[in-house]
Amino acid sequence: MDDWARQIHIKTPAEIAIMRDAGRINAEVLAATKALLQPGVSTADLNAAAEEVLKKHGCFSPFKGYGRPPFPTSVTVCINREMVHGIPKKDRKLRQGDIVSVDCGTVLDGFVADSAYTGGVGEISPRARELLEVTEGALYAGIEKMRVGSRTGDVGAAIQRHVESQGFHVTREYTGHGVGRQMHEGPQVPNYGKPGTGLPLKQGMTIALEPMVLVGTHATRVLPDRWTVVSADGSLTAHFEHTVAVTAGDPLILTVP
Ligand code: MG
Ligand code: MG
Repeated sequence: MDDWARQIHIKTPAEIAIMRDAGRINAEVLAATKALLQPGVSTADLNAAAEEVLKKHGCFSPFKGYGRPPFPTSVTVCINREMVHGIPKKDRKLRQGDIVSVDCGTVLDGFVADSAYTGGVGEISPRARELLEVTEGALYAGIEKMRVGSRTGDVGAAIQRHVESQGFHVTREYTGHGVGRQMHEGPQVPNYGKPGTGLPLKQGMTIALEPMVLVGTHATRVLPDRWTVVSADGSLTAHFEHTVAVTAGDPLILTVP
């Protein structure tokens, strides 16, 4: 996803309240997909479940039609070695032991909320379980740094430290991002960094933080469909994301129920 609007847009409290409502709906969308993580369910079924919830609320996903070639569905679904931007398909069925990432955005009254999770299909391997825990933990380690006085490098460093201290790898090519009227605004927030570097965080910034973690190495490649990003070595990957507002106090997670 490369046509970034890189400007930073500070949101008013009223705008953040709309994004909070969008985030609540997005959480409901993701929960509907999570309830379907069973063997035999297709990745297109996950997209259909998401669209049903979006429709019920009169919302839509900014993913559909995004980029070149236009992304065809409302959610992205990734299995095992697929890290982000997987295209749902009717003939792609979930299997016992898979780990599945679902990413969705919700547009409400012109504002976007963006969130993702990775879950298991039935019993998953201890290594896969560990990958999920570390990736979700890295998201919260990053969120903890989303405060006035922090810089984007502090956030990235917290994510990177959490991941690498447990022997996993963070992506280099794909980053967190500001979000608001556009799905991708500034600032970019890499999943790695040095403390005390990068752009200062300001009250009213809304940022989608999204650690993408790989078991083998940090290298990735894009499949011939021009969307699906996979680990270069075929190893497992995971992805967790929340949209978070920087406030005068604690970080405010917008994409929760
Ligand atoms: Mg996302
Ligand atoms: Mg995002």
